[in-house]
Amino acid sequence: MRVVKPKPQRLQVSQRAVLALGSNLGDREATLEAAVRDIGAIDGVHVESVSSLVESAAVKPSGVDRAAPSYLNAVMLVRSVIGPEQLLDAVNAIEDRHGRVREERWGDRTLDIDIIAFDGVQRADDRLTLPHPRAAERAFVVQPWLEIDPAATLPGIGPVADLPAASDGSVRRVTNRDDR
Ligand code: ATP
Ligand code: CA
Ligand code: CA
Repeated sequence: MRVVKPKPQRLQVSQRAVLALGSNLGDREATLEAAVRDIGAIDGVHVESVSSLVESAAVKPSGVDRAAPSYLNAVMLVRSVIGPEQLLDAVNAIEDRHGRVREERWGDRTLDIDIIAFDGVQRADDRLTLPHPRAAERAFVVQPWLEIDPAATLPGIGPVADLPAASDGSVRRVTNRDDR
């Protein structure tokens, strides 16, 4: 009898992650569009949706800085077969390729990519805190996220739509995701 060996299959369980992108230096829109493409090209990452771009004033450790160039931000939903640390490595490499310089805290930057949530993971160490500890209070994260996932929840916190940042008027939509 001929034994048919099953083909070895790699079990690839994907998890849902939420990424937030921001830029306040250079051609912000072009950088964000390129970053969305770069994220889609990460091995093991599949892009599910991308929000509109929103604009808001820069926030520095001392508060809102209207003298600094303003930010464009977007949020993306992805499915990932790579783990959260590997995803952070990959998005840090994309930031570097787009000329990200790390100097003072919350300094102006060509590109910032944060992992807002990774499946239901809750963890905190030097390298990676999940969900992102400041996401819930940031209108520029919460509002574009709700646009693409109105039922979004933050692990350990609850429905994103119930957060005060969801109705804060400090951000404005500048492009429509349907125009893409
Ligand atoms: P903020 O974290 O307040 O948005 P930032 O994005 O300007 O500030 P960065 O200088 O980009 O901060 O990152 C500082 C460090 O944050 C990184 O070295 C990274 O290891 C760590 N970090 C911890 N949790 C996360 C996360 N969920 N997403 C991205 N980076 C994270
Ligand atoms: Ca950030
Ligand atoms: Ca960051």
